[in-house]
Amino acid sequence: MSSTSRKKHVVVIGGGILGASTAVHLARGGAQVTLVTSGSLANGASGRSIAWLNSSGARSAEYHYLRLLAIDRYRTWSVHHPESREYIQFNGAMKWAAPGKTFRDTYAFERSRGYESVWVERADVAAVAPDVNAEVVAEEGAIFNPGEGWVNMPDFIPVLVAEAVAKGAKVIQNAGDARVDVQEGVAVGVTLASGTRLSADEVVLATGGDVPAQLAALGVTVQDRTPAAFVVFTDPVDIEVKTVLNTPRVAVRPTPDGRLVLDSDWAEQTVVVEDDGSFTVPQESVQGLLEEASKVLAGNPLLTAQHVGAGLKPIPGDGLPVVGSIPGIPGLYTVFSHSGATLGLILGELLAEEILTGTPSPVLESFRPARFGSDNAAPEVVGTGAWEAVMR
Ligand SMILES: Cc1cc2nc3c(=O)[nH]c(=O)nc-3n(C[C@H](O)[C@H](O)[C@H](O)COP(=O)(O)OP(=O)(O)OC[C@H]3O[C@@H](n4cnc5c(N)ncnc54)[C@H](O)[C@@H]3O)c2cc1C
Repeated sequence: MSSTSRKKHVVVIGGGILGASTAVHLARGGAQVTLVTSGSLANGASGRSIAWLNSSGARSAEYHYLRLLAIDRYRTWSVHHPESREYIQFNGAMKWAAPGKTFRDTYAFERSRGYESVWVERADVAAVAPDVNAEVVAEEGAIFNPGEGWVNMPDFIPVLVAEAVAKGAKVIQNAGDARVDVQEGVAVGVTLASGTRLSADEVVLATGGDVPAQLAALGVTVQDRTPAAFVVFTDPVDIEVKTVLNTPRVAVRPTPDGRLVLDSDWAEQTVVVEDDGSFTVPQESVQGLLEEASKVLAGNPLLTAQHVGAGLKPIPGDGLPVVGSIPGIPGLYTVFSHSGATLGLILGELLAEEILTGTPSPVLESFRPARFGSDNAAPEVVGTGAWEAVMR
């Protein structure tokens, strides 16, 4: 990235993957950066994510391209930072359809886009993914994507932030609810919960599931379908799981310390949001995920829960990323996205470049906040039915 002649002060709000990535890319590009977050780093969705790195399923060409760039950035990172292979791995992912459904169309779509996608007959599953219990794979077989993987963001985010700090960034954790200062229609800084004011040339709102409400308070509409969600972190397991699994009743990925992270749509729908905004996860849902995960793993290991991570899962109204300058409020930018694990490095890089150079990236053209307009009209969801089935 080219650096600017004028050193801008940019305040980034949000210590998840998108804020951390934007901060480090801004710092690399020569900006004076302050990263402000309400609690500790990675305490939001980034700390409780399956974090499967993928461009799985049917998507628009623009979105698929963005996701391929995104995965490519992780590969480059992993080559240049060999130590990151503890928490960024590319051992492939397997998915199969629910009873009565087929993934043949998803496979055909992935192949048509040149995505590395292999159809695996049930009889061949053990050879491709020895960690999978082939008996429960769909009769028609499964899709294996050898180039997919996972990232453990609570390990990765501090590394990004440490690099930003080494390049002069300041980090303010436990800042409480920060808000953007808009004066005479221009974003001029950020006010922390303590009342402390930070002036800024530019402000980036990267507050995950809180972005739509924070923008709404400034009169800006970004459609939102952020649900409550949860993952279960298991106790350490004594089997080796390498493949990310997306199965009809459970998704599974390993962690660097030998545990598994589990989630599923059916379980997500049982989370109760209490009046005080806290989240209650029914014990049956936790137990159900553990049992479903045991079924899909070779040897049916007994799994127990170490802890549950519950909270918001940021998802824009049309499922696509929302990145760039906020129309009508000069100096204010946002980055709000589903699949933020996959997109973390690339979105931070492109957004930082836009802020530093003032030149919009054509790659982000389909993902602008302006697409929502001000009339709340629902933009069209891009993709086919298969997209929903495998969307992360
Ligand atoms: C269950 C689940 C499964 C997922 N699976 C996948 C997957 O397989 N693959 C994939 O690519 N993605 C996946 N995702 C999505 C991905 O995890 C998120 O898109 C990504 O973590 C979002 O990062 P973020 O930085 O936008 O938000 P967050 O990680 O939520 O970070 C936002 C930060 O902002 C802070 N904050 C909020 N409001 C304020 C404020 N007013 N002032 C200061 N700080 C504030 C919060 O404390 C938080 O630290 C999943 C998410 C969930 C929840």
